[in-house]
Amino acid sequence: MTTRDAKMLYQELVLDHGKAPRNEGPLAGATHDATAKNPLCGDRVTVHAKVVGQRVEVTRFEARGCMIAKASASLLTETVRDLDVAEARALVATVEALARGESSAAGDLGALEALRGVAEFPARRACVTLAWHALRDALHAIE
Ligand code: ZN
Repeated sequence: MTTRDAKMLYQELVLDHGKAPRNEGPLAGATHDATAKNPLCGDRVTVHAKVVGQRVEVTRFEARGCMIAKASASLLTETVRDLDVAEARALVATVEALARGESSAAGDLGALEALRGVAEFPARRACVTLAWHALRDALHAIE
């Protein structure tokens, strides 16, 4: 994928999910929650998760801040569904690598591939990773 393609995919994703976020709002029956803040642009994202055993059954999010933070949180809730806790944690590391523009984040990433485009906008990387850090914190206590 060229840099230009990655940039376009990213912008489409941000517009799509930013304007029509999926799974936004509180989660009835949530077992784990965490909030992450990005002081740089005032974003604040809370991720709610319902974890049963080692399975993250469903997540929802609440966000205040820029469209990028919201779009990434929305994408998270669509991606992290019925995953094992370990798989969800691995995805956080994958998103961090993507945001840094590391090519090592390979394999079939599906819609997450679009996040690669943020590497072209370094000031926005923290907006993209924010929800994922909230997810990591939410799952922190699970062994
Ligand atoms: Zn932001």
